[in-house]
Amino acid sequence: MSENFIFEGHDTVELARRFGTPLYVISENRIERAIKKIKSAFNNAGLNYSINYAGKAFICKAMCKILQKLDVCLDVVSGGELFTALSAGFDPACITLHGSNKSEIEIREAIDAGIKTITIDSISEIDIVNKIASELHKTANVHLRLSPGVEAHTHEYIQTGRIDSKFGIPINMGIRAAAKVESSSNLRLTGLHCHIGSQIYSSKPFQIAATSMLEMIYNIKEMGVEITELNLGGGFGINYLQDDPVFDIDEYAVILSKTFEKQSKELGIKIPKLIVEPGRYIIGPAGITLYSVGTVKEIPFLRKYLSVDGGMADNPRPALYKAVHHAIIANKVNKEANDLVTVSGKCCETDTLIKDILLPKAQSGDILCVFNTGAYNYSMASNYNRLTRPAVVLLKDDKAEIMVKRETYENITINDTYPSWL
Ligand SMILES: *Cc1c(COP(=O)(O)O)cnc(C)c1O
Repeated sequence: MSENFIFEGHDTVELARRFGTPLYVISENRIERAIKKIKSAFNNAGLNYSINYAGKAFICKAMCKILQKLDVCLDVVSGGELFTALSAGFDPACITLHGSNKSEIEIREAIDAGIKTITIDSISEIDIVNKIASELHKTANVHLRLSPGVEAHTHEYIQTGRIDSKFGIPINMGIRAAAKVESSSNLRLTGLHCHIGSQIYSSKPFQIAATSMLEMIYNIKEMGVEITELNLGGGFGINYLQDDPVFDIDEYAVILSKTFEKQSKELGIKIPKLIVEPGRYIIGPAGITLYSVGTVKEIPFLRKYLSVDGGMADNPRPALYKAVHHAIIANKVNKEANDLVTVSGKCCETDTLIKDILLPKAQSGDILCVFNTGAYNYSMASNYNRLTRPAVVLLKDDKAEIMVKRETYENITINDTYPSWL
């Protein structure tokens, strides 16, 4: 039997040899399965819905093609993400734009491209979007992002739904914001939005947020404006470690469907269309990272460090969020994991990737496979230490091809220029 770890039918040691390390590997089949799972949960619950994949989790042109093929919309948060989608031929009518501090250029690009909606993040942004829409002689469909004050149970650094947050309009200012949009000549208010955090495992906080938001739709209807869409954001948790809880998408769909139906009836409003914006749930488990093990340093009675050829430049999550990842030695799957080690990167920084993990006894040249790196790894990668960003390989059935090339030294220096006095 092979000693090598097989990921979606592919020998990972073979992938590492063929494409080099560090290497991001993404499985299209896994993306498909995650989307199918959401769709079937929502269909079974009888929801009227739309899935807007959160591009910030992972975006490149090929990813846009995959989404379009799977009939999923896209949420972008910058001109760069919008440009990526449009250059991949993504249908602008299926793109939404977010951002707590969009530039006027980004807003103009979005309205000019004819995207579906712009999510307004602050009272002051209403005038800016209206001004740009009127300059372009267009009417922009907008959503208002409200912060409903729901605290989701997740790591503190990634909580965004609280009142004390740079994101969104405090819910008690929602009516004022809606009135302001309504009195704007070139804006149409089509929906409300909230995003209560990331890595959430329970449906409860979503239900609480939905309840406040439906109440707000009622209040806005009292003003004479009918809201047809309610976006409850993303944040569906994934299990980074085997013992982590599992987010139950079927339960989420049932609870929200019931809440929407019951409360809309009570309030006398039309049941809004549910929009969700999952990023991590779709792309996180679809990705792994392969590294080569280099230096093994043992400090007697203290710790054993296993250094790999990547680190915080390709996965800043452990450093940023104290995030945890499971990993294995890809070429030793049948060996007992009995060696307690700490996996570090190669950056000039204490860039611990995984603190205290049991692995089979490893040596230089082994391949380390880190799981659940599809989300917020490539998209957050940097050139710290002037490291070149790894390639991203896409797997589909028995095929494996590059979807983002490995950076070269030339890529890194291409924007360097000499001021005249040098
Ligand atoms: C980050 C973010 C998402 C996606 O979050 P995930 O945890 O990846 O699902 C969706 N919507 C908004 C507004 C976000 O900021």
